[in-house]
Amino acid sequence: MTNATRHQLIRSLFDEYIALYAGRDDRLTAKFSDCFNGFTGGGDFLVKDRASWVDITRQDFAQVRQQLRIELLDISMQDLAEDIVTVTGFFHIHLPIKDHILSQETARLLLLFRQEQGEWKIVNSTISIPYHLVEDGEVYPLKNLRERNLELEAIIEERTRALAEANAKLKRLSNTDGLTGIANRRSFDSTLAQEWNRGQRTGSMLSVIMLDVDHFKHYNDHYGHQAGDECLKALGKTLTRAERRAGRLVARYGGEEFVLLLPGADDVEALETARRIQLAVWAMELPHAQSDTGIVTVSLGVASTVPSRQSCPEELLRQADQALYLAKRMGRNQIQTYAG
Ligand code: GH3
Ligand code: MG
Ligand code: MG
Repeated sequence: MTNATRHQLIRSLFDEYIALYAGRDDRLTAKFSDCFNGFTGGGDFLVKDRASWVDITRQDFAQVRQQLRIELLDISMQDLAEDIVTVTGFFHIHLPIKDHILSQETARLLLLFRQEQGEWKIVNSTISIPYHLVEDGEVYPLKNLRERNLELEAIIEERTRALAEANAKLKRLSNTDGLTGIANRRSFDSTLAQEWNRGQRTGSMLSVIMLDVDHFKHYNDHYGHQAGDECLKALGKTLTRAERRAGRLVARYGGEEFVLLLPGADDVEALETARRIQLAVWAMELPHAQSDTGIVTVSLGVASTVPSRQSCPEELLRQADQALYLAKRMGRNQIQTYAG
């Protein structure tokens, strides 16, 4: 037999296989040798016997019953021996499904035929899809996978960072007073609870100063609510500027009331702080036509304690509030300390 006729033979074996396969023709299964083995592209596993391969082929045919279009890209034929030939075909498989992924992927099919009792049978079939994704120096497309993983990791990292940032912002907002931009009552309450616990452990003192603007209702009535807002903002700034020491917290307690938390400060130090704040407010010289002094003044109540199990943070606040009430009753624009 000449080379040309051998090639014609190999080609016709391949063409016949493709025609039966594309036509979903069960006669294909009769072409499998009893010694068959093969490797599936889709399932990615080795099949070691004929019966299993017949099952897989029928499953394949049942899944897509209509004729397939096999677009042959390239073919390589090898004449190995008188009774053994192989063909490698490269093709696109066009399923009767529009734009199916397989239409773009290149499948590679290697068929090994052997002549058995005068008939050419398929001894091995190996299909791989889509091998072209591998890069130089690779057997499996791992580099692509690794790059994809890195990409995903970067996305996750970015999302995590954005989430942490959003959470931090939310926390900041939920602890900040909307008008003055200083800490709010919620923030104050939680810090007070923390400092109370710490004081209980260490036995150090804890002081609180409650501050209320004098005749603020008159201020609003006279200058308008908006001017009242501006006044509160200015007070917030002055208080935080006057009390920058580490660990100390200035918060808007509500309305025109502010509160200061002084961890580690005894009654003497707390009183000094209250004086400094009173002076700082005076120094602002905010006009208040409805006040005796002609400027905005504040009344302050001071309370100090060593946190203990017998008491609670609310008690310390109540004492500061009582001192503040006394300052109001005694004529405003002054400081009173809780006497116990
Ligand atoms: P006192 O010297 O006894 O504290 O008199 P006061 O008028 O300051 O006290 P009162 O509690 O009767 O009035 C507080 C006023 O503060 C009434 C309320 O309208 C005003 N106020 C509370 N929160 C705000 C605010 O956010 N903005 C403005 N502009 N006013 C506020
Ligand atoms: Mg008040
Ligand atoms: Mg007031």
